[in-house]
Amino acid sequence: MLIDQIAKVKNDIATHARACGRDPHEIKLLAVTKTHPASLIQQALQNGIDFIAESRVQECEAKLPSLHGLYKEFHFIGHLQTNKIAKLLALSPTLIHSISKFSTAEKLDHTLQTLRQTQDILIEVNTSGEPQKQGIPPEQLTTLIQQCTQLPNIRIKGLMTICELTTNEHSIRKSFQILRQLFTEQKSNPHPNVDMQFLSMGMSDDYKIAIEEGSNLLRIGTAIFGNRPIKKELT
Ligand SMILES: *Cc1c(COP(=O)(O)O)cnc(C)c1O
Repeated sequence: MLIDQIAKVKNDIATHARACGRDPHEIKLLAVTKTHPASLIQQALQNGIDFIAESRVQECEAKLPSLHGLYKEFHFIGHLQTNKIAKLLALSPTLIHSISKFSTAEKLDHTLQTLRQTQDILIEVNTSGEPQKQGIPPEQLTTLIQQCTQLPNIRIKGLMTICELTTNEHSIRKSFQILRQLFTEQKSNPHPNVDMQFLSMGMSDDYKIAIEEGSNLLRIGTAIFGNRPIKKELT
């Protein structure tokens, strides 16, 4: 049952946070609702989920209007194509987790300018070194952040990563440690318009490790909703 899964995930997060000396309240749970129908998401929102995350703009456009008022926050966690920026902004995302190129940030800033809005974003970092992965390489992060401070309408609020798809705990932990290290470095060398608050890491299979490594924004789909329909599987 969905309600039991939600309770279980929340309970596991709290137990695990306490076990490593952290306050569970500083860890935010995002339910990753991609591929799931609005009816199921509505059930989740009536049973303890407040924050949802999606990864395709078209799918958001189809589902979010019917859920309006039911969720407290909607986060965008997928690859953002520049031709979808205006459509995404129309859906008022609380946070866009997946900015990793200056060209995308620039176009986002430009659209925000015309709307006279600002937008909170995270920078996605490729911590696993896999060539097919989205995300900026760690050694280019500071340059990207410096460039983004020239864009007056975007606000960098933290960092995000997707670790390698592996059962090797060591590789997973390594990814999270790299992100945390970058986060700490950026926090101690602040740039204007940058406020490092969120460390977005940890999914269904690795959120316990992510909590140990300091995550405060978990993106969890499968552990709440079960497997996604295979045909519509999105990353
Ligand atoms: C799908 C997705 C998740 C959730 O993955 P699960 O393994 O189902 O928890 C988290 N983050 C991103 C960026 C995703 O695309």
